[in-house]
Amino acid sequence: MSDSVAPAKTEQKRAINRLKSMYPLRNLVAQDYINTLQASNEGKPTVWAMLNYWEGDLPLKAMGLNIVYPENYSTLMASSGTAEPFLDASDSDGFPTHMCGYGRSTIGYSFRMMKQNDGKIPPEAPMGGMAKPTLLLGSGIICDARFKWFQALSRYFDAPEWCLEMPMMGTFEGTEPDLEEYQVKFLVRELRDFIAFLEKLLGKKMDWAKLEELIEVGIKIHETCWQIHELRKVSPCPMHSTDFWSSMPPALFFAGDMYEALKCYQDMLTEVQERVKNKVAAINYPEKYRIVFAELPPWHSLKFFDNLAEMGWNFVYESYGYHNPRPPDLSKVSDPVEKLARLSRNFVFNVHPYAKADGIENPIVETYLRIAKGWKADGLFLHPLISCRAASAGLRSVQDQLQKRLDVPTLWVEGDIIDKRVFNPQETLARAEAFEQTMEHYRKVRKSRGLDW
Ligand code: SF4
Repeated sequence: MSDSVAPAKTEQKRAINRLKSMYPLRNLVAQDYINTLQASNEGKPTVWAMLNYWEGDLPLKAMGLNIVYPENYSTLMASSGTAEPFLDASDSDGFPTHMCGYGRSTIGYSFRMMKQNDGKIPPEAPMGGMAKPTLLLGSGIICDARFKWFQALSRYFDAPEWCLEMPMMGTFEGTEPDLEEYQVKFLVRELRDFIAFLEKLLGKKMDWAKLEELIEVGIKIHETCWQIHELRKVSPCPMHSTDFWSSMPPALFFAGDMYEALKCYQDMLTEVQERVKNKVAAINYPEKYRIVFAELPPWHSLKFFDNLAEMGWNFVYESYGYHNPRPPDLSKVSDPVEKLARLSRNFVFNVHPYAKADGIENPIVETYLRIAKGWKADGLFLHPLISCRAASAGLRSVQDQLQKRLDVPTLWVEGDIIDKRVFNPQETLARAEAFEQTMEHYRKVRKSRGLDW
């Protein structure tokens, strides 16, 4: 009888090679929910804010307010598989099913809290829930759902809602001479009104020194993030889209402690630099295809990206609307309000001059052309949503122009950010397999045209 040795259990690696530096950033966001619940228990004011591209976040933080972001909370509901009862609650209170998934889930949450649970957090809420807000900060940027949804929330809570504005324009209108200075004046006026409103509501003055300090930290966070994502241009790409989505809130909302966030992003930059140096990929499989994701992810099915990683699909860039551009040089601007106005405005208008030079009316199309070229995309995974016309309407033009100008093909997969009932992973995987032949074909076409990928 021979001694038989049981084979050692091999630890199965995840298909996506997650960055270690992503986890502390995710924890910073979790801490915001805990802090806000604690503040509410102590009777301190709390805020629910919408993604506002920083113009409102920093004045709120400078006044010491605890903030949570319903858009971010919706992603947590979806990824933890707890969103459906809240979507159903929104539907039952008369809101349409084709409305924004973030709006639906947090309206459902508010309905459950205020109409069915005596103002207490619904027991099924993930992460301990969101504390009742004292103030709602809406935003007119990007879509109509954004400010209407917060108006609806303010009725559940009988809390005041303030809506910050941001000009949105196509390429040619948005590059008219003298427009920038006019827009900055408009935004400065808006922000001064908002700060005056906050001072009145809270009965205290703005801490201007703190605001200036936070703006500087915010600019450093954005500069660091920009450097990280530039490094993703190399092959193999060292950072996967799922790591971007998991770590983005401290840059996108300035969620969490901003000083800690800056340190965490600096650690992330170091880790990504190390990976580039050692040619470590973001997937534990050879990088066969470099894919860009547009636009909002299926938060309920992020594990689906592991299946694609097993096929050698590395997601090298994603979701332009969630990325901060490189901050402009604001060193000569002394007024903090003007600095903030210019920082926020830069998100909307940074790509307009390039779009104008290329004769493209829709700046989103220009953005994806630049991403496809810069990050050498083999294909784009387009994710149109019936519940988000703002992020979906331009995708047909993106598809059309990428194909025409760069011979980069696209995979069109309908779905939803929150409602997993409208996403079919099996069918999508089958279509992804077939799409590989298309990508192979267009690699040859691009080569024959002298393009370098
Ligand atoms: S842009 Fe889309 S996802 Fe964002 S709030 Fe508007 S409808 Fe919702």
